Amino acid sequence: MTDVRQHAEEIHEQFSDHLDVTVDDVASRLDSLVNEYKVPMEEARRSVTSHYLDEAGLERDDIRTGGTSDVQVEDIETDEQWVNLTAKVVDLWEPRSDSVGQVGLLGDETGTIKFTKWAKSDLPELEEDKVYRLGNVVTDEYQGRYSVKLNRTTNVEELDTDIEVGDNATEVEGALIDIQSGSGLIKRCPKEDCTRVLQNGRCSEHGEQEGEFDLRIKGVVDDGNDVHEVIFNEEATENLTGIELEEAKQMAMDALDTTVVADEMREKTLGYYYRVSGPTMGRYVLANDVEQLSGPVDAEAALIKARSM
Ligand SMILES: [Zn+2]
Repeated sequence: MTDVRQHAEEIHEQFSDHLDVTVDDVASRLDSLVNEYKVPMEEARRSVTSHYLDEAGLERDDIRTGGTSDVQVEDIETDEQWVNLTAKVVDLWEPRSDSVGQVGLLGDETGTIKFTKWAKSDLPELEEDKVYRLGNVVTDEYQGRYSVKLNRTTNVEELDTDIEVGDNATEVEGALIDIQSGSGLIKRCPKEDCTRVLQNGRCSEHGEQEGEFDLRIKGVVDDGNDVHEVIFNEEATENLTGIELEEAKQMAMDALDTTVVADEMREKTLGYYYRVSGPTMGRYVLANDVEQLSGPVDAEAALIKARSM
């Protein structure tokens, strides 16, 4: 998201109850001031905000500034919502791009969610195991997984308290009955913060790209009662199939065809029984833990378990 776009969304949010105006309208006004007339962003924001205040017949105090609602992690199931979240920093990861200041996992009683803090946001460093009230963060969705983004309007307040972080992991036990297209040796868009899977060398957002190799399986597990879509990332795919990334690349190179990798993976896994656990994101279970079961699951036991859920 560009800077202008982010500011435009914030302004738009303030007027969404008062005016029939789109984010694009706001963005184009901001863009013109900032990029054509070289007005500093803060000033441009004030000017654009004044314009919409006039149009709505409002005073500055009337508009929502942080009129966002308090939510818990499990409530986050809409894209581009401005919310307040009180959560503990469960894990910090290595940012993969310069535009990201911090990235990791937040958790509350209801589960965990990824967060991204922009490098430009000018916010304090979040520390692991500390609890924060994060005012005004925006939700984001990618392939059914939700995350929150901390931006320059976010208010970070450290709280002197602890949170028992809930486990939103789910466990699925059953036969792997399908490996869907887009599995095996794939290429991801190398653009910052994109990671979309390339289709015929093209990213739906960034066009033709060289791409970076990755392993993934989108599988379907049948527990005898229901089917569950499971995503195995590189590590989980290696665990499941015993095929590592380098080996997969070699296989594809030898065959001059990347699809041989998914074929080999199908051969090794389809019809076998697994216990898979991990967080659910949208309709997917993200396989954190994979265990191959020695024999077929006891159908009756599986049924009793499913009924009790
Ligand atoms: Zn891309």
